[in-house]
Amino acid sequence: MEFSSRARLRHARLAGDRREQYPHSLQFYLEPPMESISLVEFESFAVDRLKLLKVIENLGVSHVRGTDVYKAKLEAELRKLKFPYRALAEDDYEARRKDHISHFILRLAYCQSEDLRRWFLQQEMDLFRYRFNELTESLMQKFLEHVNLSFEAIGEDVKNELANELSTSTPGFTLAKVKEQMFYKVGLADAVDLFRARKVFIKDGFAYVPFKEIDVIVLNNYRTKLSKALALTARSLPSIQSDERLQPLLNHLSHSYVGPDYSVQKNTGKISLEQIDALSVKSFPLCMRQLHRALRDSHHLRHGGRMQYGLFLKGIGLTLEQALEFWKKEFIRGKVDADKFDKGYAYSIRHSYGKEGKRTDYTPYSCMKIIMSNPPSQGDYHGCPFRHSDPELLKQKLQSYKISPSGITQVLELVKGMHYQLACQKFFELTHDIDDIGFSLNHPNQYFTESQKLLNGGRELKKEFNNSGNFQQKNNSQESINSSSTPTSSNAKADTELEGLEAYFTED
Ligand code: SF4
Repeated sequence: MEFSSRARLRHARLAGDRREQYPHSLQFYLEPPMESISLVEFESFAVDRLKLLKVIENLGVSHVRGTDVYKAKLEAELRKLKFPYRALAEDDYEARRKDHISHFILRLAYCQSEDLRRWFLQQEMDLFRYRFNELTESLMQKFLEHVNLSFEAIGEDVKNELANELSTSTPGFTLAKVKEQMFYKVGLADAVDLFRARKVFIKDGFAYVPFKEIDVIVLNNYRTKLSKALALTARSLPSIQSDERLQPLLNHLSHSYVGPDYSVQKNTGKISLEQIDALSVKSFPLCMRQLHRALRDSHHLRHGGRMQYGLFLKGIGLTLEQALEFWKKEFIRGKVDADKFDKGYAYSIRHSYGKEGKRTDYTPYSCMKIIMSNPPSQGDYHGCPFRHSDPELLKQKLQSYKISPSGITQVLELVKGMHYQLACQKFFELTHDIDDIGFSLNHPNQYFTESQKLLNGGRELKKEFNNSGNFQQKNNSQESINSSSTPTSSNAKADTELEGLEAYFTED
């Protein structure tokens, strides 16, 4: 009895501590987590948050934010990944802890460049907006107090006095509605956006903000804090980069891909070299179609292009023998003679098939990897055309592929908004004449597989991908690792090995 009451007390204390640590289901992430966590947990939290942010990116483009369908889909994802999905009354400590820790891990990974910071900020803002708007009025109030953003609600007497001005200066507010709604007196600096959009009444240096617009102010505040925090984190990167356990993981995260790795080939050898030209037109994503065209035209591709295209071809089923034949035939039509090819280039192709060096069986690059790393320079054809091409050139290319003017406008709009994979999805829809792609595009080989499925009624080239661990990369002599995708501790090794391969392949 004694024992059980003590245990209960301890349990109650623990629950109290936990509640104290995360009193709200959402936060501004002002304090970094101080506890120690295992690398396994580190990786799995980070990957889950990345999955969540990717879903948020997709939802933000395919649905109007805040609509019922947007909210339902986001809630389902939050539940699935075990993040806090609404202000739960019960103790959801584990979900809040995961939310807190995973945010800080991705902050580290995504502070490393302007592009990454912008992407991260956008998705985190959308997530925050959704969560904040899901709070009840009293929880909002509590949260605002907690983050020192409690604004003074004006009294009935002031509201009555200003009723006419509030009604005329606040769009959509009749006198009756002014009476119903709570208004807050907010310093002008906090309400700049509302002021600029002429959505609020201003008097004596204060904006009178209706309750329904308070989220704009909270979001602005959060955006400012998070952008500053990202800039500060970027400054402290050198010390993090010296940590040899963390650095490879963080690097991987920022290029991370969270789907199948396209390394397990049921259809290896089912493609003939003669089919490649036709397939490149029908089923290759733009990045690979561009590489294929450049190779056929100039009988050569520089290092980055050979890596990106070679691994893609391997992913769609080219055997090592076919790859050697394919590259050799093309290169010897240009300036490389057969001897030079056999001595230099052939080695690196065998290497990428795991037949040389450390015998790592390399996986094709994901979109994230292509978009985020190694941008092409003059004379290169690798990279993602949606990310790396000049919009005017991209437009011309799309025109040459007979995409309709309205289709081109849609693609270019997505590119402008930096939604490169979504632009590619749109390209898929336009070239396959379908309204909804029905999947979230993350990998050039996924594009190819889905295209083939669609064109052939799901029959031809249907592969059985290894979805279990998602990121397995075969190594002839060691455990499974993956280089192109989710960060696992062994990714670090794969990355180093990939660099090793690239070193072999530096010849232009
Ligand atoms: Fe290639 Fe991915 Fe870019 Fe599409 S989004 S062109 S598949 S890298």
